Amino acid sequence: MIRYALICDSAHEFEAWFRNSGDFDAQSEGGLVECPQCSSPNVRKGVMAPAVSTSKTEKAPDPQKAMMEIAGKVRSHIAKNFAYVGDKFATEARAMHEGDKPERAIYGETTPAESKALADEGVPCAPLPAPFVPPQAKKLN
Ligand SMILES: [Zn+2]
Repeated sequence: MIRYALICDSAHEFEAWFRNSGDFDAQSEGGLVECPQCSSPNVRKGVMAPAVSTSKTEKAPDPQKAMMEIAGKVRSHIAKNFAYVGDKFATEARAMHEGDKPERAIYGETTPAESKALADEGVPCAPLPAPFVPPQAKKLN
């Protein structure tokens, strides 16, 4: 059985079941398919009404995947343009903020508490999108 969304020449939409697609063509050509509202035999196929959910076969854009792609771009941009300072991030960021060291773009590791302390002191820093892989971790493995 196949379900068709049908539309007549007065734009009435309705649905009808047929044994197969040839069945519709045959009945339609013979004037056997009539609009239930105006009895017009001038009926054509409208947009196919999905009889089953297509969610398993048609994948909608995955928001998580999109986020991961953006996060990956941010990470690679930082890895290319920022200097990695490892676990000295808080010390370095503070030194730059206080003018003890020239300002440069850095990234590294710090604890949530330290990162909050930096923010409270007005040191501009932001967490990197997870998962963050320090460059030295690759060498160790
Ligand atoms: Zn009609």
